[in-house]
Amino acid sequence: MATKLPSPPRVGMVSLGCPKNLVDSERILTQLRADGYQMSPDYAGADVVLVNTCGFLDSAKEESLEAIGEAIAENGRVIVTGCMGKEAEVIRARFPDVLAITGAHEYEQVVEAVHEAAPAGISPYVDLIPDAGLKLTPRHYSYLKISEGCNHRCAFCIIPSLRGDLVSRRPDAILREAEKLVAAGTKELLVISQDTSAYGVDLRHKSWPRKGGEVRAHMTDLARELGRIAPWVRLHYVYPYPHVDQVIPLMAEGLVLPYLDIPFQHASRAVLKAMKRPANEAKVLERIRGWREICPDIAIRSTFVVGFPGETEDDFRYLLDWLDEAQLDRVGAFRFEPVEGAAANALPDPVPEAVKEERYARVMEKTAAISAAKLQAKIGRTLEVIIDAVGEDGGATGRSAADAPDIDGEVHLRDAGSLSPGDIVKVTIEDADDHDLFGAPVSAP
Ligand code: SF4
Repeated sequence: MATKLPSPPRVGMVSLGCPKNLVDSERILTQLRADGYQMSPDYAGADVVLVNTCGFLDSAKEESLEAIGEAIAENGRVIVTGCMGKEAEVIRARFPDVLAITGAHEYEQVVEAVHEAAPAGISPYVDLIPDAGLKLTPRHYSYLKISEGCNHRCAFCIIPSLRGDLVSRRPDAILREAEKLVAAGTKELLVISQDTSAYGVDLRHKSWPRKGGEVRAHMTDLARELGRIAPWVRLHYVYPYPHVDQVIPLMAEGLVLPYLDIPFQHASRAVLKAMKRPANEAKVLERIRGWREICPDIAIRSTFVVGFPGETEDDFRYLLDWLDEAQLDRVGAFRFEPVEGAAANALPDPVPEAVKEERYARVMEKTAAISAAKLQAKIGRTLEVIIDAVGEDGGATGRSAADAPDIDGEVHLRDAGSLSPGDIVKVTIEDADDHDLFGAPVSAP
């Protein structure tokens, strides 16, 4: 039976007060959009309404209270944030039914309150952020969505029917948002979209004025500009189109992290054709070799689907051999599952569940061995690590350039008690297991 997808919850927003408050509202909405929420332009269509209040003057407070009252009357499910949040008792006395109250700049808390009030029920079939990403994104990294929708029609995917064709955001707007995120403490930008390499195709790669110059709506130009704004920029969901070669030198220069997340999904030409995958070309292995020549440290992450209808044992073995050649750093695998509305559901020759399981186990065994060998080779090296959490035992957890949050490995540090989340430090790698590294910092931030 096909998997049925829930529709995403919708959030309404009333933003009052000064431009700073507006920036907060934008940041909250950006995070919620990245978490899979949709925005509602009216009270009636919203599952929950956020009121971002102003408390600067008595008249502004009164206006805020009126806005809360209106939202309660029109919708009933209301979360209050912003400057009036510090007068929670005043709000509660007048509106005891308010779901949650948070203060100004408390992005994480307000996003958490929305998740509690209207759980996003994230789906691996349509959402770009890993499941674990739904825990609150710490301030030091942020997802930056550069486009919506997709022009491809992969047989297993329902994104184009849900979200429509590719609509890219203007590059100047993306860069402004990146600057705001960095000003608010972001050190690492995770660039997401359904197809990052197609960015700007719908805008015909036009240029927009920016800071006395121009910026072109193109992945390479955007990546370069983002690299000038944020210390770390990580590119997700890139397809191996020829122009992707142009971002590899930016990685070698250190402007963009040497990390490419490319969802190859398979290697067999027959399966890729049945999947109707974009950039399905024979020379991918050659391209990967070329990228490694320019940027030896590039980490390539990918996902693969096993048990797609019609996948034969030969197709599957071809994939295993391909993985041996490609030596990808990080691999996630999925057993094919029909999703309601996907064209692949009508394909003949479904693969029996037991065969899917067996192939899944084989692909995971192979990729774990490759990952372990690659991590072993890092022992003794000094790597830059961004700190995610500091423990009470003097240890810390972070990630190297090869590790995206929640989907890749971690670096576990000893003697790191003086560090803080978001610090980027040099670490000597002392040990490794199948997925993680272990080491100690060599310099204070
Ligand atoms: S490239 Fe394919 S899998 Fe990705 S969103 Fe587009 S249609 Fe779906």
